Amino acid sequence: MPGFDPARITIPCAHFLHGRQVRGGAGLAVTRPADGQVYAELPVADDACVDEAVASARQAFFHADWARRAPRERARLMRRWADLTEADIDYLAALEALGSTRPIDQARAWDVPYTAEGIRFFAEFADKHGGEVAATAHNRLGMQIAEPLGVVGAIAPWNFPLSMTCWKVAPALAAGNTVVLKPSEMTPFTAVRLAELAIEAGIPPGVFNVIQGDGATTGDALCRHPDVAKITFTGSTVTGRHIMGACAETGPKPVTLELGGKSPQVVFGDIPDIERTAATLAGAITGNAGQVCVAGSRLLIERSLLEPMIKRLNAHFEMLEPGLTWASGSRFSPIISETQANRIESVVARALEAGAELIEGGSRFETSLGGCFYRPTILRVDNSDNPAVKEEIFGPVLSVQAFDDEEEALALAEHEVYGLAAGVHTADIGRALRAVRRLSAGTVWVNRYGRSNDYILPTGGYKRSGIGRDLGRAAFEANLHHKSVLIDLDT
Ligand code: NAD
Repeated sequence: MPGFDPARITIPCAHFLHGRQVRGGAGLAVTRPADGQVYAELPVADDACVDEAVASARQAFFHADWARRAPRERARLMRRWADLTEADIDYLAALEALGSTRPIDQARAWDVPYTAEGIRFFAEFADKHGGEVAATAHNRLGMQIAEPLGVVGAIAPWNFPLSMTCWKVAPALAAGNTVVLKPSEMTPFTAVRLAELAIEAGIPPGVFNVIQGDGATTGDALCRHPDVAKITFTGSTVTGRHIMGACAETGPKPVTLELGGKSPQVVFGDIPDIERTAATLAGAITGNAGQVCVAGSRLLIERSLLEPMIKRLNAHFEMLEPGLTWASGSRFSPIISETQANRIESVVARALEAGAELIEGGSRFETSLGGCFYRPTILRVDNSDNPAVKEEIFGPVLSVQAFDDEEEALALAEHEVYGLAAGVHTADIGRALRAVRRLSAGTVWVNRYGRSNDYILPTGGYKRSGIGRDLGRAAFEANLHHKSVLIDLDT
């Protein structure tokens, strides 16, 4: 698969309202992560623009009949939208690779097809859940009718721009809501293209709107808007707290919050195939250069395996080289921004000061590419108070702690703040299931690490990793409320 020339890609540098691109004034410079070049000026939606977007979504909800349309018709339009998304792979994958940390080969092999499949997955729910009939006295009929909420405000992060858009928008639309999405100001453009494709598929104007801007201006105004019925958010725990506050002050309105993580990978000495586990562990911390909410960033390993596993991890890490995200063959992602690279450096420096031992990496790659690339890094740590263990780094930095028995392993796995995901690697099914019961995490993977591509299992956090669930039936249901109806039959 050849790479592409960034100069030839048209940038949809606009909001998307009333079914068309709406260009605003200059606002924020948008930078390509791989080479650090500014390639667009992003309009920033102010209160008036947010108001217009919400009015567009409200109009579509009440008057364009999206909510009242036959559910199968909604499903049919969404399936067409998924087909058009897949057919647009050349442009969508290039736009994603240009402006985000996603290498072009991965954007083509995963991000675009996974997004299309997500739209299909949620479309299938549209006509599968109408409500329930209650067990009332025989002379009455009691029902719970499932209804859409209205205008859903969606706020997305930068790490997987296309698929995060799909996670937020597809279940909301399938349930009959209309949406105003604010993508991250660092990766704002593929959402606009997805919204255009929705129009081409026949989804009415105003059903899916995109507003551009930063969190403090545009995101906050969206959360506080009185006509927004719900906010669904993915991003950091700190921002999630702000959003919940804004929704409480101006509602209260319901929230789904998918937040940060610091996920453990617990490896016991009985694993049958150390090479296979090493490949899993390496992928879980270097995929998207560790800029993944469920990155397996804390390795807890039985002492007997410590040295052999570190040797194998190093071998995997050494194969990764920086590359432009638009060059064919690039596998290793840049760090999203200079600010984020500085943050990684700061946590690593504090970790070393606090006694961590640097085993591998610990610095940026020296390259002439222009973007920031951070070396896959291993920090050996003995103390769980070390910043490398406590803080979400959002980079390719793995802390490693050794344990001597199961009890110690599971105690170390517990994190005081985060509970997003965990991995357990063992040949002993009883031990695996004890760990599943014990670990405080929204998802536990056994002898694997990472979600399946089928959307079926919900994802979300325990503790301060979040509230509510994305994916699965749960994500669809989170976009509905239920009306109780009781009818006397004897009148
Ligand atoms: P972030 O919290 O900085 O920003 C996320 C979004 O929120 C952006 O669109 C931003 O503009 C907006 N925002 C910022 N301040 C806001 C405010 N006051 N009001 C409204 N909106 C505001 O997060 P990020 O750096 O884009 O993404 C990385 C974080 O996302 C990590 O913590 C990661 O763990 C988390 N994440 C979680 C999941 C999950 O499923 N749990 C998935 C991906 C990323």
